[in-house]
Parts: sequence; C-alpha cells; structure tokens
Amino acid sequence: MRKYKHIFFDLDRTLWDFEKNSEATFNDLYLIYNIEEILGCKFTEFFNNYKIHNIALWELYRKGEIKKDFLSLNRFLYTLNDFGNNNLALAQNLAKDYIAISPQKNLLFPHTIETLDFLKDKYQLHIITNGFIEVQYKKIKNSGLEKYFSNTITSEEAGVQKPAKHIFDYSLQKANAMPNESIMIGDDLQTDILGAKNAGIDQIFFNIDNISHNEEITHEIDSLIKIIDILN
Ligand SMILES: [Mg+2]
Repeated sequence: MRKYKHIFFDLDRTLWDFEKNSEATFNDLYLIYNIEEILGCKFTEFFNNYKIHNIALWELYRKGEIKKDFLSLNRFLYTLNDFGNNNLALAQNLAKDYIAISPQKNLLFPHTIETLDFLKDKYQLHIITNGFIEVQYKKIKNSGLEKYFSNTITSEEAGVQKPAKHIFDYSLQKANAMPNESIMIGDDLQTDILGAKNAGIDQIFFNIDNISHNEEITHEIDSLIKIIDILN
C-alpha cells in the first residue's frame, strides 16, 4: 500500500519555469515600451535591475511591511529610477502589463507533464503557491496544468506565505488530507521544504542547482522525472 495519498506541489520554479517565463515577458515589455531608447539601457541591465528590486520588495511583502499594490508598482518605478527616469505612468503601465502578459507564458520544467500524467490517477494533487490569486490561476490554466490539480492554495487566499505553518495547515484542511499521508514537492529549501517539515509533512526537495545544505529532508531530486521512482 502506498504511504501517501496527497501530493502538494509548489508552482513557480518547480513546475512553471519562472525565470524563463519572466525573461520572455520582459522581452515583450522592452519592445512594447521602447525601453532601449527611453532608458538607454540594454535588455539585461533593465531585467537584472528589476530582479534585484523584485526580490527586495517581495521580502518586505513577505514580512507584511508593504502591500501588494506597492510591490507591484515600485519594482518597476525603482527600476526606472535606476536609469534616471521617474515616469509614474510608465511604471504603472509596465506593472499592469507584466501582470497581464506573464501568466500567458507557459514554459514548464522538463518532465512536468510526464510526471503529472503518471501521478494523477494514483494520488490527489494540489498546489501551494506564494503568489497573487489572479496571476497564479492564469498560469496554471494557460500552461495546461489545471486538469491535474484538485486544489490550488495561494498565499493571498491563506493570508500568510510559506513557510508559515498556517498555510500548510490550511492546505491540508482544504484538501481533506492528513499530514502523515501527504508529501510536499518544491524548489525552495526554506519556504517549501522546511515549511512542510515544520507542519509534519514529508518533503521532496527539487534541488535543481544542487545547493549544499545540512538539513534532513525526506527525498532530494535534481529532475522532476525522479518523482516517479520515489512515488511509484
Ligand atoms: Mg518555487
């Protein structure tokens, strides 16, 4: 008999290729808004500066120090400021279009569909994601993932972000699952893996960059296809 009944997946950087999809979105924005001419910077400068602001602002959002709208707008306004531009309307348009365009990108990590096809009749599959409701649901739909998942839980809905124990408890309750019959799969050691562990849920760490650590984790993989061996 199988040990697990429920599998909880992270979305960004676990199934949905966040880096490549984000870069493709920025390529669109760079062209649509003629950023090269307006800011006088190369695409990589524009994108790299944005990434620095985005990470810093997400950190503040995670701590509850700023609201969603502040994060959404200022990651772009700060990037414009880096290149001597303070055009609020442009920042607002970039913020709006990023939210609109990014979920239309649909590149998944290798073996995502193959792995989900294998799991779907054997387990109940769910997603737990730190992100905005309107963005994450569109990503799931547009990348063909919707049919695999019984429940999608966003941090916005749960009211807290991973690794807070509450979002895992909330997800278990929503899925009608017990911790000891559940396993969490994700790419982030802190938020997904140690968060799940703290909630009494086994874990599969998708450690694609082979980062070194001293944590005791149930399983560790560098390719999604290895999930099949573990959960066969
Ligand atoms: Mg992730």
